[in-house]
Formats: sequence, C-alpha cells, structure tokens
Amino acid sequence: MLRLIIRFGLFFLLGFVAPLGAMSDYAYAKAEVKEVRLAAHKDKTRFVLDITEKVSFRIFTLSNPYRVVVDLPEMDWLNEENLKKKAGGHVANFRYGLFIPGTSRLVLDVKGPVKIKKSFILPPANGKPYRFVLDLVGTSPDQFMADMKARKAKARPPAAARAIIPLPRTLERSQKPKGAKRVVVIDPGHGGVDPGAISLNGAYEKRITLAVAKEIKKQLEATGKFKAILTRNRDIFIPLRERVNIARRADAELFISIHADTIKNRRIRGASVYTLSEKASDKEAAALAERENKADVIGGMDLSHESKEVSDILIDLARRDTMNESAHFAEGLVKKLKGRIKVLRNTHRFAGFAVLKAPDVPSVLVELGFLSNRHDEKALRNPKYREKIGMGVADAVSYYFKKVEKAQGS
Ligand SMILES: [Zn+2]
Repeated sequence: MLRLIIRFGLFFLLGFVAPLGAMSDYAYAKAEVKEVRLAAHKDKTRFVLDITEKVSFRIFTLSNPYRVVVDLPEMDWLNEENLKKKAGGHVANFRYGLFIPGTSRLVLDVKGPVKIKKSFILPPANGKPYRFVLDLVGTSPDQFMADMKARKAKARPPAAARAIIPLPRTLERSQKPKGAKRVVVIDPGHGGVDPGAISLNGAYEKRITLAVAKEIKKQLEATGKFKAILTRNRDIFIPLRERVNIARRADAELFISIHADTIKNRRIRGASVYTLSEKASDKEAAALAERENKADVIGGMDLSHESKEVSDILIDLARRDTMNESAHFAEGLVKKLKGRIKVLRNTHRFAGFAVLKAPDVPSVLVELGFLSNRHDEKALRNPKYREKIGMGVADAVSYYFKKVEKAQGS
C-alpha cells in the first residue's frame, strides 16, 4: 500500500513537473501545428493554433514596441509563407519559429497596449485537434506595463535565453601553432522566429543567408587552409550578441555576417560590404544598420535590461587595429566579389551594426543583394550564383591572410 502511495505521489509530482521540463527537453514526437487562425471580434482579437498534441506554453509581453510573446515546445509549424492572414484586430503582424533548441516562439506585434484576456488549450472536439487559444483586448499603457511586470515576476525565460552573457577573453590574439587552420566564422543572418527581409515572391532572407553561408563554408574548407564555423546551421533564432560570442569563443580570426536586404526602389540591385563605425557613411547605411539591429526585437528578446552603456563600451573596446583589419578585409572582399557578382557602387560602407562589435575579431557584414529586386532575388536562389559568392569570399579570405602573414614576416 505504502509503495502504491509513493508511486502515486511520484506520478503526481512528475505530472506537475513535466510541463516545465518539457520546455527545454522534448524527447518524444514533436507536436505539429496544423493551422493558424486570427479573428477580429467586436469584443476581442482571437488567435488560435491547431496542434496535434497537448503542449505547455508560457506567455509574456514586451513594450517598446508592444509585443506578445508565446513560448511553446519545439514544434513543426505550418509553413509561414502559406499564411494568408497575418494582421487583424489588435494584431499588426506575427511570426514564429525555433527560438532555442526545445523552444518554439510565437511573436505577435500588437497595434497598442493589450491585455491577455484568456489563454488556454482546448481538448480535441468536432474533428479538431488540440487548440491553443489566445484572446486579446485593448488596455491602457499603464495597465499594460503593470501586467507586464506581474508576468515577468511570475515566469522566467528559458535558461538558454538568459545565458547570453559576454564571455571573458583576453584581448591578446592567441598565437596559432604552425600549421593550424585559421578559424573563420560565417554568420547567416536572422533565423527561426526572425525571418529577416521577405521578397515579393515570399523568399525569406533567413533561408538565403543559410544557403549562402553553407556554400562559403564549403569553398573555404576546400582550400585546406581554413576551418569555417557557422553561427547557425539550421532555422533557429540566435541573438546578435550571441553571434558575436560564438566568434570569440571559437578564437575566430574573421567574422563574416551574411544578409540580403529589401529597399523601396525595386530597381536597385547588387552586393555591398559593411564594417563597424559609430558614424554611418550615409543615411542608407544608417537605416540599414537600424533594420538589421532590430533582429532581437523581432525575435521577441527582452532588451529592457541591456543598457546603452554596454554597447558604447563595446565600441570603445573595438580597438583601432581590429577596425583597420576589418576595413582591409572588406576592401579585398569587394574586389574579389566584383569580378564574379553584381556589386553596388561605393560598395564598402560603414555603420553601427551590433553584430560587428567583437572588439578583437575583424568583422564585416555582407548584403548580398536586394530581395526587392527580381534579378537579385532570382540570382540568390540559384545555387550556381551562390557558388560564385562562395568562391569570391574564399578568395578574399586567402588574400587577406596572405597579407597578414606578410606583415607578420612569417
Ligand atoms: Zn538581414
């Protein structure tokens, strides 16, 4: 009898703990999202997910801009490109995807302060699977802030999302043992819940950057001289600061962030290369940096604890020679790309990109082209074109290190 009671006790205890554990560690079959619905009613905006399994969820809100964030277990989502309706009622837009391993994230951009009136999981009924239901109503900014604080106190974000702290690393460049391969980190922009730019035909920047990054890795490693590490090798969200940290932890000697922009003027096309500077070289570069730096906001990161000082210190730390090295590499890269793909005029520009702020790793950001231009879009979707980019980057990396070695007299 006692054994039975203990067993039951354990059962209840595990039953209680399991939903929490499930957020970070889903060992069994992944749930699948079958449908996504958004409906504006008179008294509320209702958001519904049809899901094949019962799942646990955690909701929190963020301000500046107003967002509602829902963390769920890692699931297979309905292809976002197929959604017809992405706005209505209080919702201006929404997106979803893998946030960290084990956690999917849904981010709703709301038009103003909202209140989460209800959130629940409905059991299967009338031929429908499980349904996650979220009801939103309008509220005052003060009430929104009060609710946000209350929710924050109640629930902490998943551990991995909190563990993004800069790692201590000596600023001295470590001496490579002779014959060791040089490490180059390739950073495919965006990913997971952050799609990046979206073309008129529905091509996602996050997919193009990953395909190009993989090609660059292939070409770099084919030289036999370099080890290429990707900041992500699947469709997952990586915060900007973490991308920088991956390069520093890997003792990288170069960091190359890969992007593809969109712009109002659909005729503009071609690649461009950027390096870090407090002062942007022109208005377009400043606006571009602002768009790219929003990735963490788009991914539903809580940035309220990130003081501006931290970013300023990082800029100060960016020692002059790291910036000079970045500029050298950028200029070589422009040259090597020019013969192979279409590049913009005045192609090396400067702006305050957050992802280029490693103080000790020369870093550049490449905008491969414009998804708003149909030639660029078509080209970037073509593996042959991506191969040309890969060869251009590999050529530029070899050229850069040859110069470094010459300067070092080795
Ligand atoms: Zn981008």
